[in-house]
Amino acid sequence: MRKKIIAGNWKMNKTFSEAQDFFLEISEYLDTQNCNNTQVVICPPSLYLELATDFAAESNIYIGAQNVSYAQEGAHTGEISAAMISSLECDYCIIGHSERRKLYSETDEFVNKKILLLQENGITPIVCIGETLEEREIGIIKDVIVNQLEGAFQNITLDSDIVLAYEPVWAIGTGKSATPQQAQEIHSLIRSWLIEHYGQEKADEISILYGGSIKPDNFKELLLQPDIDGGLIGGASLNIEQFKQLISIAVELN
Ligand code: PEP
Repeated sequence: MRKKIIAGNWKMNKTFSEAQDFFLEISEYLDTQNCNNTQVVICPPSLYLELATDFAAESNIYIGAQNVSYAQEGAHTGEISAAMISSLECDYCIIGHSERRKLYSETDEFVNKKILLLQENGITPIVCIGETLEEREIGIIKDVIVNQLEGAFQNITLDSDIVLAYEPVWAIGTGKSATPQQAQEIHSLIRSWLIEHYGQEKADEISILYGGSIKPDNFKELLLQPDIDGGLIGGASLNIEQFKQLISIAVELN
């Protein structure tokens, strides 16, 4: 059975003490939940990863970084390496987020290098893909998604875990989520691509998350789709009450 994953991407938000308060409250909350097949992941700014993994050691939270360098080590001022993330015992790392693609010119080639480095260091990549509004409007969504998959997964073997996140760019931070049907259509395309390249058994194990304006009032319908295995959540993961509600929706559907 595929894991359900509720992953919060804090982006560049929260002070250290706000992060501490959030981790304390969410750890206490998770102690009261029977998460079974659902994993709750928080991806805080990298400055707080050590704090986060200390909390994770004592609770049922999993921790992810928001980005990793494409390089192994050395003269890359401001970057953090896969080995560093691994040395803090993080479980996951988001790569290819549309904000990194748009603002920091992250290409599929970079995403490909990052997948390899994360795999070598025992961290599960959360690989984000998704089309822009313009690409949707001119009807090339499927080509865009398949190109991103081909680029990111070139020469990648899947002996270790990997997670995908379909995040239509037009839905991120806009309050305009994809409908469950729109999301399912692309999730099913991604699953078919995985079957074609890695076989049915492997494709059936891979969790494909939806991301883009998830809120407590639209999450359940999204999660009920057969190929949607959780959410990558920006805005609503910053608010402890909304994030708890999202977790409880997923746990109830377990
Ligand atoms: C995201 O940044 O990955 C995201 C999905 O953001 P939001 O939930 O705010 O749309």
